[in-house]
Amino acid sequence: MDVEKVIIIGSGPAGWTAAIYAARAALAPLVFEGAVTQENQVAGTLPLGQLALTTEVENFPGFPAGNLAAYLDEAIAPEQRQTMPPHAGHGVSGPELVELMRQQARNFGARVVTEDVVEVDFAREPFRLTASDGKTYEAHCVIVATGARANYLGLPSEEKYKNRGVSACAVCDGALPRFRGRPLAVVGGGDSAVEEADYLSKFASTVYMIHRRDELRASKIMAQRALDNPKIEVLWNRTLAEILGNPTDGVTGVRLASTAGEPDLEKDVSGVFLAIGHTPNAGFLKGKLELTEKGYLKWTRPGRTFTSVEGVFAAGDVADDYYRQAITAAGTGCMAALDAERWLAARGL
Ligand code: NAP
Repeated sequence: MDVEKVIIIGSGPAGWTAAIYAARAALAPLVFEGAVTQENQVAGTLPLGQLALTTEVENFPGFPAGNLAAYLDEAIAPEQRQTMPPHAGHGVSGPELVELMRQQARNFGARVVTEDVVEVDFAREPFRLTASDGKTYEAHCVIVATGARANYLGLPSEEKYKNRGVSACAVCDGALPRFRGRPLAVVGGGDSAVEEADYLSKFASTVYMIHRRDELRASKIMAQRALDNPKIEVLWNRTLAEILGNPTDGVTGVRLASTAGEPDLEKDVSGVFLAIGHTPNAGFLKGKLELTEKGYLKWTRPGRTFTSVEGVFAAGDVADDYYRQAITAAGTGCMAALDAERWLAARGL
């Protein structure tokens, strides 16, 4: 069996950025982008990750909002523009962005396997990885970039309106035109929920925070921020029973159940943001790499992407429960490739 120099597991911005850098460093990376299965679809872990599940991306540098063609016409001389390939004609969408990253990695020679990695043996060298089709692979170095998935409640109406008013990322989607000046709902009572509600209050007419208890879990200072914000109204002791909507408008409202014996309550909203936590896609690494208390991969050296096993690096949301942005994932993907390259070079590999 040929031993790979570096295997990258994951196909979001962290994985593809690591692949671009590793490929340009002549490490011929092999990328496991994940398997296309019903199980992965339900879990939200299909190839290309969370970006593929969102709509417009307005905060990834280099893709200005608005008509990209007009922007490029202004920024670049017409004769030079004519030599450039056509594009979608607007900023960029999540699926477009991540497909572009994938293409960029492949252009530099990254090889792609459309399977999950289901088992790893990091106790031997070279490392051994088993894919979902049963094949095994060996590598001197591994970059784990399997991301995280937002937690959803599992309501059928939630699934129906995903990307049509239901989101789990206010920073990604909150500024979209469909939410501007409209009432919105945020589910959850932790720091994320407060942060999302606070962020959304810049665009929304009202933000209803739907919390199942009569006290926020968020830190005191964050909780106070929500309570002091005149645009945020906390609906205490409430759970989301159903998201209401129609095929033309997407989300139009919510029906809320009570945890305090009150009757159901309906509110008109144009968007529902889930902020009930994330789950890192690190289940297959339990017992193989050190995890944080919250189940994320632990970076073991400050400012580096090293994990508890020498030669295994982690990038993106699987190791980050704090920033969770496409651009930060891309950044740590780049760092992991550079760490891997230097680690291999130091061993003459
Ligand atoms: P979290 O602290 O675990 O809060 C999750 C919230 O969702 C809780 O209020 C919980 O309700 C609610 N929830 C969970 N499952 C639910 C369900 N099935 N139905 C209804 N509600 C449900 O998660 P987080 O807010 O994402 O924060 C994660 C970590 O990141 C925390 O340590 C937080 O401090 C940190 N963080 C910090 C900042 C900041 O400092 N700026 C910002 C974001 C996150 P209960 O309260 O009833 O359990």
